[in-house]
Amino acid sequence: LVIELVDARIPLSSRNPDIDELGKNKYRLILMNKADLADKERTREWSAFFKEKGFFVVSLDARSKSGMKSITDIVMEACKEKIERDRKRGIKNRPVRAMVVGIPNVGKSTFINSYAGKACAKTGNKPGVTKGKQWIRLNKSVELLDTPGVLWPKFEDPVVGEHLAFTGAVRDEILDIEGLSYRLLELLQDLYPEAVNTRYKTDIRPEEELKGHEILERIGRKRGMLISGGEIDTERAAVNVLDEYRGGKLGRITLEPVGRPLK
Ligand code: GDP
Repeated sequence: LVIELVDARIPLSSRNPDIDELGKNKYRLILMNKADLADKERTREWSAFFKEKGFFVVSLDARSKSGMKSITDIVMEACKEKIERDRKRGIKNRPVRAMVVGIPNVGKSTFINSYAGKACAKTGNKPGVTKGKQWIRLNKSVELLDTPGVLWPKFEDPVVGEHLAFTGAVRDEILDIEGLSYRLLELLQDLYPEAVNTRYKTDIRPEEELKGHEILERIGRKRGMLISGGEIDTERAAVNVLDEYRGGKLGRITLEPVGRPLK
């Protein structure tokens, strides 16, 4: 079984299509992670979309241990055919082997810790247990590879790169923060026109058709982010907007609606 984590806020950009080739002939489970930060309705739509394509799907906050019990149930469900085949051949209690894959920062380690935490500690601390890749026995039915597989996103597509940057999946040092914040603000105006007004009390009316830099200036002014001479400190405002978006302070927001191509 391949357990693929995607970021529920950007289900297209956080996938690497090569996984479909790699995961061919395997059972497939998609975990829509960081669902706590994503729009519930959009997450439901994406789940339906992936299920339609034959994946098993669970939406998740990997930091919370409470959802983990249902993962084992769905793993068993996903591998039902194989378990049944084994049973018919007289093979009993052969566990399902699962591997976690996903792009950097999507929550793979967090998930493995939440899902296998205790089991991990148990095997790892025994003397003589080899370091490096090993199968962790979670229960009588499931074994999990302790090291996740890292998939690279499609960086060559500039929109993908941008969406990854919005969510914080790319290191900020290599980014033009102000430019990035303009584009995030324009996308938010398009998808969630009230989000900025609600957070920053900016009273922006849609008919004003503001550009990203104008929205950022409104935000900076409202927050009193000024530099000497009374000018707006747009860099500080930009950092603030990105931080607040990533921290969920602008609400639960999905940047990629189903059926809408990346542009
Ligand atoms: P990895 O590179 O795929 O192993 O990602 P990590 O497990 O290191 O997680 C990257 C960051 O995302 C960490 O700061 C985690 O705390 C955070 N994170 C992981 N899962 C979730 C989640 O479901 N919701 C939220 N809000 N944060 C998460």
